[in-house]
Amino acid sequence: MEECYVNVAESIRHAHKCIALTGAGISAESGIPTFRSKGGLWEKYDPAVYASIEVFRQDPAKYWTIRGDFIRNYDQYRPNPGHLALAELEKLGFLHLVITQNIDGLHVKAGSKNVVELHGNLRQTFCLSCGKEYIAPHVPPGTPPYCSECGGVLKPNTVLFGESLPPEALLKAQQESAACDVMLLIGTSAVVFPAAALPQVTKRGGGKVVEINLENACPFADYFIGQKAGTALPAILSLLKKI
Ligand code: NAD
Ligand code: ZN
Repeated sequence: MEECYVNVAESIRHAHKCIALTGAGISAESGIPTFRSKGGLWEKYDPAVYASIEVFRQDPAKYWTIRGDFIRNYDQYRPNPGHLALAELEKLGFLHLVITQNIDGLHVKAGSKNVVELHGNLRQTFCLSCGKEYIAPHVPPGTPPYCSECGGVLKPNTVLFGESLPPEALLKAQQESAACDVMLLIGTSAVVFPAAALPQVTKRGGGKVVEINLENACPFADYFIGQKAGTALPAILSLLKKI
């Protein structure tokens, strides 16, 4: 493992462009359950149903019942050492970009500047009728909440199942995945497309994939670090500061 860390740090140091692709696993240590964690919220509620655009259109209250607490308590979630290490790697010039599938906004809170939020974020909530924006946690009460201006239903700026990804974000993610020579693939089961295809785009472009995850979900990763993101990323950062 020690040797693997050194090799990964060397690859990052020699890279022209290193990027990160993160999933729910990087936020697990901030107390936000992943889709697949045991005893998590999603064991009771199938996200493909509750977080789908179809259900939202039929009955937005259903969606707000499970997501509402999270949105209204938005400010209580804090970045963990994994998010902070990525922000520092960017500051030191080792990391070009973070592409995230997460909607929790924790990379931005940690201080990362160049961030692509592929699935949007829970920070911005807007009225489906007049477009008025509400910034979490300052969302009107109610399940679902209604717009204080026009009475329209409010929806967070997130990509629900059945919706397409914001085209500009997806294009940037694809271009940067093709152009990078190292991708840090962190805390994602790599099953939700199109994000799941990005590591392959990096491989096809001749780049290396470094997976940091508790499980080896990416069979073609060049390096696999089987540790928590909040342990592995600070360790890589401290090696890079030394060499
Ligand atoms: P996922 O739940 O499918 O997989 C999480 C992965 O993280 C697993 O492979 C697991 O082994 C790994 N993991 C768990 N704890 C870890 C840790 N401490 N360090 C490193 N790895 C760890 O998540 P996904 O691949 O991101 O895909 C599912 C979808 O879930 C995404 O579209 C995302 O939008 C959504 N989601 C987001 C959040 C969030 O915003 N925090 C939370 C749950 C789900
Ligand atoms: Zn409105």
